[in-house]
Amino acid sequence: MKFGGTSVGSPERMRALIPLITDDDRKIVVLSAMSGTTNNLVEINDLLYAGNTDQASQKIEEMRSLYHTVVEDLYSSGSFKKQGHELIDSHFDYIRNFTLRIFTKLQEKAILSQGELISTSLFHILLSEKGISSALMPALNYMRIDKDGEPDLFYIEEKLKQELDNHPSENIIITQGYICRNAFGEVDNLKRGGSDFSASLIGAVLDVDEIQIWTDISGFHNNDPRFVKNTSVIRELSFDEAAELAYFGAKILHPSSVNPARLRNIPVRLKNTMEPKDEGTVITSSSILLDYKAVAAKDGISVIRIRSDRMLMAYGFLRKVFEIFEAFKTPIDMITTSEVAVSITIDNPQHLNQIARDLRTLGSVEVEENQTIICIVGDFRTERTGSAPEIFEALNKIPLKMISYGGSPNSLSLLIDTKDKLNALTSLSEHLFNQANDIQRDN
Ligand code: ADP
Ligand code: ASP
Ligand code: MG
Repeated sequence: MKFGGTSVGSPERMRALIPLITDDDRKIVVLSAMSGTTNNLVEINDLLYAGNTDQASQKIEEMRSLYHTVVEDLYSSGSFKKQGHELIDSHFDYIRNFTLRIFTKLQEKAILSQGELISTSLFHILLSEKGISSALMPALNYMRIDKDGEPDLFYIEEKLKQELDNHPSENIIITQGYICRNAFGEVDNLKRGGSDFSASLIGAVLDVDEIQIWTDISGFHNNDPRFVKNTSVIRELSFDEAAELAYFGAKILHPSSVNPARLRNIPVRLKNTMEPKDEGTVITSSSILLDYKAVAAKDGISVIRIRSDRMLMAYGFLRKVFEIFEAFKTPIDMITTSEVAVSITIDNPQHLNQIARDLRTLGSVEVEENQTIICIVGDFRTERTGSAPEIFEALNKIPLKMISYGGSPNSLSLLIDTKDKLNALTSLSEHLFNQANDIQRDN
């Protein structure tokens, strides 16, 4: 059971979790940092990188006093309040220490890990005040990524099982989402929103009955509710559908979080902490097909267009192109080709300049940033007819930069300028979901 930032975002919310976790089932409770905390820690890191120690210290002290007010409200008795205040001071004294030293990636990651370390300890103490037995299992003892930043499943499984052996009769095991160690044993993390990924990895290596992601909305919606009105919940998604939507920007799930569950065929249930009776969404290996199920958008995309006469009738050209991306460990999201040109999108611009420089040895290169991939998930099996016209009709006023169709039986992706995103998402919702064309069909 993973509870996100808003689900642990206040003393009231933390108390509201108790009835959700105190049935007879044995469970691992994965917690995020309290909402806003990781953003604040990122800001502190930015200030420290910029050498602005005074402002960083001020921000640290603001966070410290905010957490002291949380402690005052969270616990009823003096001794538990004292324990909470001591905990908060020890974490913020630790963070404060970094204002005195040279600031590097190592320190940055150590600071980012504090949010989850604090929330899990506060919750563990809360359960103990309420007389509910639980164990706190440190994620830094078992969660690990390899030198490519990928989870090290063998290590995680072995170490997690050892950790669990320490608490054989405990029904509630609390652990941190998001944080891990890297191949060198240093504190690291699974990237923003990574607690979902933690829960899925834990569920997969333990082969659990179900992975539950508890958040602030009653399941997966058919469009991004932050940008579009009148979105509605999808009751069922397949792993493939959910993985594409998460990868292409649906914030409710971390981009990689479906994969471990899919690997071990473990259902993932999305639930709302504020409305626990709502059914939510279940993600399994099979699900009913709909013409259109959902739309997601991923910003921060750069498109690179390579044009070369050497591509004409040649083999091996694309290999040379791909090798350049591989050399800079930069994954490709979308690709389209024509007779003498190829367009490629990436979401990590870290090495964009070097990639463009090396690609210029193959032909002319054009780069455009601030692009958005729109991913439409539905029934796009190749034998079907007529699935694209409604999409193009919906987007007929929006310049389409790239179209990717046929790469997957359950999605179609488009590249547009980010400034057109709002219009595109709204229009897609109006055309695809708010009409009577979402008729259910058999598989
Ligand atoms: P948590 O802190 O619990 O991990 P997140 O903020 O990461 O929560 O994810 C939940 C949020 O994702 C929702 O509040 C909603 O605004 C946003 N969201 C974006 N796309 C979708 C979608 N397709 N369905 C549901 N929620 C979505
Ligand atoms: N606290 C981390 C973040 O805000 C991880 C998470 O919430 O999933 O990104
Ligand atoms: Mg999240």
